[in-house]
Amino acid sequence: MTTISAIQESLNPFEIATAQFNKAADYLHLEEDMREILRTPKRQLIVSIPVRMDDGRTQVFEGYRVQHNIARGPAKGGIRYHPSVTLDEVKALASWMTWKCATVNIPFGGGKGGVRLNPKLLSRGELERLTRRYATEIAPIIGPDRDIPAPDVYTNAQTMAWIMDTISMFHGHTELGVVTGKPVSLGGSKGRNDATGRGCLYAVREACRVLGMPVSGAMVAVHGFGNAGSVAARLLHEDGARVIAVSDTKGGIYNDRGLDPALVARFKAETGTVVGYGEADRISNEELLGLKCGVLVPAALENAITLENADRVRARIVAEAANGPTTPGADEVLHDKGVFVIPDILCNAGGVTVSYFEWVQDLYGFFWTEKEVSHYLERTMTEAFRDVHSTAGQHGASMRTAAYILAVDRVAEATRERGIFP
Ligand code: NAD
Repeated sequence: MTTISAIQESLNPFEIATAQFNKAADYLHLEEDMREILRTPKRQLIVSIPVRMDDGRTQVFEGYRVQHNIARGPAKGGIRYHPSVTLDEVKALASWMTWKCATVNIPFGGGKGGVRLNPKLLSRGELERLTRRYATEIAPIIGPDRDIPAPDVYTNAQTMAWIMDTISMFHGHTELGVVTGKPVSLGGSKGRNDATGRGCLYAVREACRVLGMPVSGAMVAVHGFGNAGSVAARLLHEDGARVIAVSDTKGGIYNDRGLDPALVARFKAETGTVVGYGEADRISNEELLGLKCGVLVPAALENAITLENADRVRARIVAEAANGPTTPGADEVLHDKGVFVIPDILCNAGGVTVSYFEWVQDLYGFFWTEKEVSHYLERTMTEAFRDVHSTAGQHGASMRTAAYILAVDRVAEATRERGIFP
């Protein structure tokens, strides 16, 4: 690839999401009016969040909640705390949630939230006050039958507990179903912490089956050893795969004899990074993305694989645990190279699937065992993979475009059946 095309490539996530949508819409010969409806976010809320800091100053943060589409059910999607959060990023993530929920056929639309901040610079008290004020600002549009947030990058079960408590205080009663990804002691589901990584495992197993490649012994590299990446690494390791490299923002570590992801996770919990872990060589994130391996798991943020580096990817399977890790240009390069890409809206749908199970359990007040959660997750992920794979075969399309074809068709059908109000 030339440097000129690399420079020309758009890294704006909403433009990328729109390009992915348009490609599927072309395959479906979707009429222009329907395209306009489906690519436009339904609601976009921008809020200002004043927070009293520990030193007595008040600092104002900007936050967002976007509901992209609610044709098939309440909006569903995580909340991200990160310094690079923008409205366009939240719009893209919200639309990916619409297509993800439709791909795995759960009765949700797509939403996403974010606050632009570096959470590592805030104390626990500051984070709690920020979260409670953000929850208050978005309270008019969230709720168990409207829009159900969940954790995303740099938010966790504690963040969800604060949001649930804040909304419950307004209502005067406990509102368990307002968020998912809560602690198990507060109506959370067993298996939610591992859900994204576990769903990724089931998708990788299916891809290996299609390619006739055993999971056992496959070499795996994980870019972004966080919630999604570390769990995927641990479960693939338990399945017999050899995890040869993992990384985070500080850099990567490599051992061709294999790392034990549980030990690396413990090291990261103690030191804040995987870098410095014994019995491994240090490598850069770029070197990790170019490692020869069976499965590359991008599990960090958007735009990890671009036109700049796609040609250097030497993995047989790219399992997108992250949202939007591959740009459309890079996607074409990977496709031409014969890399089997499991697209994000399929590969990381385990998280939202178990969020759906959590919401169902909260509404019923009846809770499942971890074994039941894993069983239903495996069924959902395996069926979705097979649906996408057979759609890819029918249309001669990539797995990504096939997932979009399936999802866009389902949302378009729901929209047609509902009609345009009034
Ligand atoms: P996380 O914060 O737990 O982990 C992110 C990891 O990526 C961290 O280890 C961080 O150090 C690393 N990272 C960030 N930027 C990096 C870079 N430039 N290079 C290398 N490493 C980098 O977040 P998470 O919840 O695991 O989410 C990761 C991705 O998975 C996001 O795209 C998120 O939207 C997606 N995702 C997460 C879930 C979930 O349930 N957690 C569900 C679906 C999708």
